[in-house]
Amino acid sequence: MTTSTEKKSHRLDFLKEEIQRLKDEHLYQALQPFEGPQDAEISMNGRQILNFSSNNYLGLANHPKLIEAAIQATRELGVGAGAVRTIIGTMGIHEQLEEKLARFKHCEATLVLQSGFTANMAAIPPIMGEGDVIISDALNHASIIDAVRLSRGASKDIFAHSDMNALESVLKKHKTARRKLIVTDGVFSMDGDIAKLPEIVALAEQYNAIVMVDDAHGSGVLGSHGRGTVDHFGLHDQVDIVVGTMSKALGSMGGYVASTQAMREIMVNKARPLLFSTPHPPSVVAACLAAIELLEADDALIQKLWYNTRYFKAGMKSIGLPIDSETPLCPVIVGTSEKAQKLSQRLLEEGIYGRAIVFPTVAADKARVRIIINACHTQAHLDRCIEAFEKIGKELDLLRR
Ligand SMILES: *Cc1c(COP(=O)(O)O)cnc(C)c1O
Repeated sequence: MTTSTEKKSHRLDFLKEEIQRLKDEHLYQALQPFEGPQDAEISMNGRQILNFSSNNYLGLANHPKLIEAAIQATRELGVGAGAVRTIIGTMGIHEQLEEKLARFKHCEATLVLQSGFTANMAAIPPIMGEGDVIISDALNHASIIDAVRLSRGASKDIFAHSDMNALESVLKKHKTARRKLIVTDGVFSMDGDIAKLPEIVALAEQYNAIVMVDDAHGSGVLGSHGRGTVDHFGLHDQVDIVVGTMSKALGSMGGYVASTQAMREIMVNKARPLLFSTPHPPSVVAACLAAIELLEADDALIQKLWYNTRYFKAGMKSIGLPIDSETPLCPVIVGTSEKAQKLSQRLLEEGIYGRAIVFPTVAADKARVRIIINACHTQAHLDRCIEAFEKIGKELDLLRR
């Protein structure tokens, strides 16, 4: 007699073939846990490693002020929201965060979601439907792509990455659409380049399109006090919808949609991540509030982040591995996924954690190690990273000089 567990594993055996295929093609991902908090120096299997892959740009993930705020909110308000927002899950502290974010982002109103991912799910499907077209940059984040897929009835059109002529032809092609939405990452999450927002808003004006920017990697990094890409270009009045995350530079977790009061009300009524999933516990909300207070008070961490970024890029250029990006997000593009995995593995042997990013996250011939600089890296950390790249770059014949 077979037990039910045996039967189940047998029925799922086809998955093992798929796993083998991923391994054969150097696309297999294994999780890599570390001990202790998220920081510039981490411990992995008992070894000290320098962390060059997190999105913790400002080091807030382990900041005493955020930790204290989370503990205090937990003591006062408990550990759970208890229901979805529209039933009885909207606590005072949720709206406090939304009001603070609206002031910080210079917009009428915001809505906070569980993550940046769900913020895109909340923003796009409720406003785009039959007769509408969503116009999306080819390198937009997966959560935008999925949100577009969930916008039933709306058609979509993709324009070549940051190619304004391509964007204009697409806008022309859809002149008769009921509504047009141009959606773009603010900072592109795999290349670290900044969207051409001044040109995009000019085209949007000309062709009467709504503009939405997903600023996950720009929040806390670009603009005055980390207000993001829209602030960096001074375009607050010309971008209609901004999605941001509090899971990266802001150190904790959560996404938000910053727009008008009407946009907020429509999402409260129609956004499925809000209607059918519970919001953050008070600890997370309080940590986000504390992060925004820190940003408002002082931009020393952002200055340090950019100082470190310039130092690192100059060092990489001098060894013959120039980084083509405009932000602290530094892709080291090597070509095949096999080469990227090899580079990542050799870096780890040298005590540097730099994650390989392969297909389908990036194009198959543009596999890379994505280095992300943060404000907690010391000069010694940055030097060790550059030295490791120089040593391994020679071994793998990557240096261009
Ligand atoms: C990381 C990222 C997200 C997802 O944010 P989370 O808060 O981690 O869910 C969405 N959009 C872009 C462009 C991102 O880089």
